[in-house]
Amino acid sequence: MSSEDTPINLLDLDLPALTEQVKAWGQPAFRAKQLWRQLWIKLADSFEEMSDLPKGFRELLAQKAVIGNLRLLTVRRGDGGLTRKAVFALPGNETVEAVLMVYPGRATVCVSSQAGCPMGCTFCATARLGFRKDLSPGQIAHQVLWAQRMLLEVPEDVDASGMERHRFDGKSDIPGRLTNAVFMGMGEPFNNYDQWRESVELLHDPSGFNFGARNFTVSTVGLIPGIRKLMDDPLQVNLAISLHAADDEIRSDMMPVNRRYPVADLIAATREYTEKTHRRVSFEYVLIDGKNDDLQEAEKLADVLLAGGKFPMHVNLIPLNPVSDSGMTRSSRQRVNDFRNYLESRGVPATVRIQRGVDIDAACGQLAGDLAKELAS
Ligand code: SAH
Repeated sequence: MSSEDTPINLLDLDLPALTEQVKAWGQPAFRAKQLWRQLWIKLADSFEEMSDLPKGFRELLAQKAVIGNLRLLTVRRGDGGLTRKAVFALPGNETVEAVLMVYPGRATVCVSSQAGCPMGCTFCATARLGFRKDLSPGQIAHQVLWAQRMLLEVPEDVDASGMERHRFDGKSDIPGRLTNAVFMGMGEPFNNYDQWRESVELLHDPSGFNFGARNFTVSTVGLIPGIRKLMDDPLQVNLAISLHAADDEIRSDMMPVNRRYPVADLIAATREYTEKTHRRVSFEYVLIDGKNDDLQEAEKLADVLLAGGKFPMHVNLIPLNPVSDSGMTRSSRQRVNDFRNYLESRGVPATVRIQRGVDIDAACGQLAGDLAKELAS
């Protein structure tokens, strides 16, 4: 298909770019503002519903443009309706996923930044797909808009037992607005930095979706150049580092990227990031039975984090969500607790992440991976 025929994804355009496009279509500039409001405030997902736009313009839009180009393949409902996982197809049929997780007074969406991933972490389902494609800014933002629309449907379709289990007082505890967006879906955001960043700008724009920068968390495998870019970036998003082991040998075995950016360098860059930004970082640590969950590993972790003096940080312990035939299993509850208690005893703040979506394959890449196989066959 020539670029002439490919519809323009309106979600890829910031307001200045949208204004240029609208003018190029021979329309007055103020129509761009109206269209922008429809896309990012009203969250319109069809041109018909944009009743403040003239019919002729809506028809032109329907011919030339689309409101996002991810095609929703399926939505799975888990945790009594408090977790929803969407799988989308890109124009080339690669698949990506997004997960909405609703908590009392809080709702988080986890979005993908790439289809597949080039980083090759051995415990991750997405890694098995290999790298397929970078997502565009609009494709990343589209997942957040999906989650916001989905969130509004949750009160009508949630189980009382699920709410009780997750400590809701009632439906009024279900927020009407997303509170957090985390880039912890498929892909490595810093391997697609510019487009990832642009997606944040689009969602952050106060004249549109107006999502606070501090409500975003970007998670990286530990690409130091990306961490450096972020520390100099005026965008005040939160940073999470997938550490998973403090021992270089173990970490290199789990995460090939460690050969390029070993633990000490990574911690040094992270420390510098906190000094520059005064923002707390979180370290993610997936606990794998017999691999990285010994108290000896907890000791190495505390040592490396405390070596240069304390800095604002927090460790998130995540029992592994096992990927089929990887031979890896999650650590027992006892080992997870011992690991956490050890860190706490050393003055390293640590929490165990509550698992969501286990019943719907919500772990990184699991469902999209299966669907990718189906689409390919
Ligand atoms: N590439 C980025 C973001 C995507 S992965 C990163 O590595 O941080 C998001 C988080 O899920 C990472 O901490 C990743 O290590 C973790 N993860 C991947 N596979 C997992 C699994 N099977 N079980 C639990 N966590 C997993």
